[in-house]
Amino acid sequence: MQKENYDKYECEKCGSCCRYAFLITENYGKDIFPYNTKEDGSCEMLNDDNLCKVYETRPIICNMKLLCEYLNIDNDEFYSENKKICKILKLNGLR
Ligand code: SF4
Ligand code: SF4
Repeated sequence: MQKENYDKYECEKCGSCCRYAFLITENYGKDIFPYNTKEDGSCEMLNDDNLCKVYETRPIICNMKLLCEYLNIDNDEFYSENKKICKILKLNGLR
């Protein structure tokens, strides 16, 4: 079976993960996540087109590749788990 590779991650750019940024700000300090959330809980850096205004310099917590390296997590395992979370976010359609 071919292993999954996050470089091939098919992000649909739905922006759902960034709409849950309040979960990050509630649990981590500015050293981990320097941005604020809007009234709806989404990240202030999320554009209307669901893209990140600071994508190239986004915090490590928003960057799967760097997060895996930092936490020394197996990339394929993390990638696979992330896909499940994306699916849940999109299925719920809450944000
Ligand atoms: S929830 Fe998943 S598919 Fe949607 S933007 Fe975030 S990473 Fe991409
Ligand atoms: S910094 Fe960018 S990637 Fe991170 S939550 Fe905000 S909009 Fe999303």
